[in-house]
Amino acid sequence: MLNNLGAEFQDILKEKFSGKIFEIISQVSDEMHLECYAIGGYVRDIFLHRPSKDIDVVTVGKGIELAQAVAKKLGRGAHLSVFKNFGTAQIKYKHTEIEFVGARRESYQRDSRKPIVEDGTLEDDQNRRDFTINALAICLNKDRFGELLDPFGGLKDLEDLIIRTPLDPDITFSDDPLRMLRAIRFSSQLGFDIEAETFDAISRNKDRIEIISKERIIDELNKIVLSPKPSVGFLQLDQTGLLPIIFPELVALKGAETKEGVGHKDNFYHTLVVLDNIAKKTDNLWLRWSAILHDIAKPATKRWDDKQGWTFHNHNFIGERMIPGIFRRMKLPLNEKMKYVQKMVTLHMRPQSLVDDSTSDSAVRRLLFEAGDDIDDLMTLCEADITSKNQEKVKRNLRNFEIVRGKLKEIEEKDHVRNFQPPIDGAEIMEIFGLIPGPEVGRLKSSIKDAILDGVIPNEYGAAYTYLLDKAKKIGLEPKNK
Ligand code: ATP
Repeated sequence: MLNNLGAEFQDILKEKFSGKIFEIISQVSDEMHLECYAIGGYVRDIFLHRPSKDIDVVTVGKGIELAQAVAKKLGRGAHLSVFKNFGTAQIKYKHTEIEFVGARRESYQRDSRKPIVEDGTLEDDQNRRDFTINALAICLNKDRFGELLDPFGGLKDLEDLIIRTPLDPDITFSDDPLRMLRAIRFSSQLGFDIEAETFDAISRNKDRIEIISKERIIDELNKIVLSPKPSVGFLQLDQTGLLPIIFPELVALKGAETKEGVGHKDNFYHTLVVLDNIAKKTDNLWLRWSAILHDIAKPATKRWDDKQGWTFHNHNFIGERMIPGIFRRMKLPLNEKMKYVQKMVTLHMRPQSLVDDSTSDSAVRRLLFEAGDDIDDLMTLCEADITSKNQEKVKRNLRNFEIVRGKLKEIEEKDHVRNFQPPIDGAEIMEIFGLIPGPEVGRLKSSIKDAILDGVIPNEYGAAYTYLLDKAKKIGLEPKNK
């Protein structure tokens, strides 16, 4: 039992493999005379002390038949799905998903990442795995239960925090170029280094990424974005030359020009610092995307002005408009998530404008109204956007934003404008004046909203009604029933 491992892992493995599921898999595979192993990410995560997710089981021979027999033995509560085309089967049992597959050998053609698949040995199956740390297998048959099969030194690489392909990396990456992104994703997620040969092979094979679908690319990129320090992954994407292919707008932020002794910051590195900063505060993928995109229009709006030096006027608004194109191309969702990112990018400079002592209540109300429930996220973005190396300056800016947060709280408690709807809506305006839908109705409605946000009238029905009548009178409208 667990014979070839150090004592420190034996208890963990005993515990991991002691449940009913493993007992039954072991028993059934012995009865069917099938070699059977737990393999891949599940085994890797045990050694990394990460919570294990789905279990992958590989058997030499009939994967689907084994799954069917195991499901039968597990009885009630086991839900079996068979994917004949893929030669796999899945059992859902309580909160665990177990994937069964027969060991396979794969060979690739140049224009596709879909391999030709044949039955193979465990060794063939380990050879087709992407990284040494993902090729670990643990035997589940009774007489060898717990034996670790680690033909490529994956355990040592786990200890040394190294990502390395089991075979020639040029072949591994050319066969399935998605693996290049997986290497960088694991490096960013786990804080591992990519071994030099493997890294160089990514650079050499970068153009092969073109055969990978946008959906798969964005899946991996999002995992990089969600990693503890996303700059690790983005810098590797840049160094290997993958970034210009998958996200050219981000690369366009690179460079710091100087004119007449006046420079501007390198917005690529600045953006990565903002992203790392925000990653310490939130796991909200879309807030992290807002950080990535907050300055995306700086290259498009950069101008030299003899008086002001470098300017990036309206980069927030132009950035907002660039987002649908970027989201569409990258297969990010074109729904309310995108609208949220657009809102964050448009508004990202507004809290700074509220720092001033002379800020009017009306400016604070307008921001509360426009940001709505996302105001706290916006403040988180603004705080992450402070990237000065001067610690005094950072402290000062953070203090200023504390003051802005105070103003926002105070005005919201007083005026309740965060989710504010004008007390009189379009339907009622039409009813009062006997109007049909048209721009006039919209204008009257906006005038009430503006009057409340500007503090001209309180946020109350009576005041809004009187204001509306007055406004309407000026353009020759009278209420239908006086
Ligand atoms: P995560 O669960 O974090 O996405 P994982 O590696 O555990 O990572 P899967 O993507 O489900 O999750 O992969 C399971 C196993 O299948 C991997 O550990 C690896 O052995 C193998 N694998 C997955 N994708 C590939 C690939 N593109 N090329 C080679 N082997 C792969």
